Amino acid sequence: MKRYIADISDAQIHQIDVAIIGSGLAGMYAAYHLDDSLNCALFTKEQIEDSSSSLAQGGIAVVTEKDDTFLYHFQDTMNAGAGECDEMAVRTIVEEGPEQIEELLAIGAHFDIDRHGNLLTTREGGHGMNRILHAGGDATGQEMVRALKKTVLAKDNIKVHENSFVADILTQDDEVVGLSVYENDAWHVYKTRHVIVATGGIGQVFRYTTNPGVATGDGIALGFRAGAVIENMEFIQFHPTGMYTPENRNTQCFLISEAVRGEGGILLNDANQRFMKERHPLAELAPRDIVARENYREIQNQASPYVKLDITAKSRDFLSKRFPTIFGKCMENGIDMSKDFIPVGPVQHYMMGGITTDLMGQTNIKGLLACGEAAMTGVHGANRLASNSTLECLVFGRKCADVVNDEFTGADIEIDIPKPAQNENVSFDTEEMMVEIKGIMVKYCGILRNGPSMMYGLHQVEQMLAVLDNAKLNSLRDMELYNMATIANEVLKGAIARKRSVGAHYRIDEGRTY
Ligand SMILES: Cc1cc2nc3c(=O)[nH]c(=O)nc-3n(C[C@H](O)[C@H](O)[C@H](O)COP(=O)(O)OP(=O)(O)OC[C@H]3O[C@@H](n4cnc5c(N)ncnc54)[C@H](O)[C@@H]3O)c2cc1C
Repeated sequence: MKRYIADISDAQIHQIDVAIIGSGLAGMYAAYHLDDSLNCALFTKEQIEDSSSSLAQGGIAVVTEKDDTFLYHFQDTMNAGAGECDEMAVRTIVEEGPEQIEELLAIGAHFDIDRHGNLLTTREGGHGMNRILHAGGDATGQEMVRALKKTVLAKDNIKVHENSFVADILTQDDEVVGLSVYENDAWHVYKTRHVIVATGGIGQVFRYTTNPGVATGDGIALGFRAGAVIENMEFIQFHPTGMYTPENRNTQCFLISEAVRGEGGILLNDANQRFMKERHPLAELAPRDIVARENYREIQNQASPYVKLDITAKSRDFLSKRFPTIFGKCMENGIDMSKDFIPVGPVQHYMMGGITTDLMGQTNIKGLLACGEAAMTGVHGANRLASNSTLECLVFGRKCADVVNDEFTGADIEIDIPKPAQNENVSFDTEEMMVEIKGIMVKYCGILRNGPSMMYGLHQVEQMLAVLDNAKLNSLRDMELYNMATIANEVLKGAIARKRSVGAHYRIDEGRTY
């Protein structure tokens, strides 16, 4: 493995107090809580809104209803996590969640309310109570990002760097000393002793994913190269209902929220048979991983590459008001949900693993913190409970800021600029290799897994990594490819090592039939 991927020998050098990588909920909420006296830089690959956070539809899970309790939310989260959650981490998000919602309201986030001004709550799969707050019907992430963006941009001590690609975290003696960043057509080094990784998920490593193009697993790969421990990489959540169109292969699938099934949507196969009723007592509202596997099975046994989601029992008026985003997206694709079936299939959706942190977001590398989807705090175990990830972003984003505020050191930093070994003569086709990785992951390490197939997939990824390890990475896209290959390798290794099926990790070579 390369330790560094960017050649920064000609970089301009800057000094800052704190660096945050990522402008999703985790990164922006952390930035917002950093002390006003700290000179902070928030780097993001594209525009501020280009993140999974902006796409969150269903909402944010938090105890607000009178008949709900922390214990119920705790138990639902633990059950979803299939025995793999860290109890203290779960307790932390559940108990500290309501305070973060108060803060979001205070900075001007508008959640949906009833005519008396009370927060509206709904229920999603795996939750025993109504506790999902939402905004704009199905545009919760967009509203939270809007409110945070306004607040963060208004702070004098935070400079947001859009179109800035962080390539490496620089360390000396297992301590963070800075970052290498490509922006404005040049390499820059930002010297700092505090880096918060909030780079989100890894979805682009798979052929079908709900994650946006920026989700190439960079932060986890950067942390890994810097020596951070990463864990549970095999725990990947597949969502049962990504919208299927031939164009979304290898790019991004639009999510059709679970709430559509919550409102009565049913799943049909090619023969227009409703299959979920005979597979699980909760039918279409069975846990996410079960519905995803059943959709996968139907697709394997029929001609069409998708199953059909039928919500035509509801009126056009109801659907356009309850699901304005989904309704609009379907119309863009020539689908009127009140009359037509929506073609859907299982897609990669969320990474439960990532950079291991303690209950304050700290990693094993001094000065390196992580939060949000890139972190493995122990909250989600082997399967994430719906709408808990946005909550985790807030609670642990804030904790990362608390650590930096307490431990900030402004001491001078001397950096030895590293020069990666790069071989100009090794050639490869970046886009072709990316597509190859996506294919390998979906085929050999997707919803149903078995040892020999995964070994075969791992062998192929290792061969690619061997090429890339020797090659010069000439572009940011090459660097994303290297990060994707690193992530694919770790997911495969984790999945091979975990012999027992648990949560979203489902092996068919341990006596199960499918
Ligand atoms: C379609 C969809 C719907 C969802 N719905 C819900 C929901 O209803 N409720 C819920 O709880 N969860 C939901 N999730 C999951 C949830 O949205 C995410 O887990 C969460 O928002 C992740 O936030 P984050 O801040 O960790 O990362 P993100 O929001 O993904 O932000 C990551 C940021 O890091 C930046 N970045 C990445 N690499 C680099 C780099 N090398 N250099 C610079 N910047 C970089 C990106 O540009 C981006 O700004 C959904 C996810 C998707 C995709």
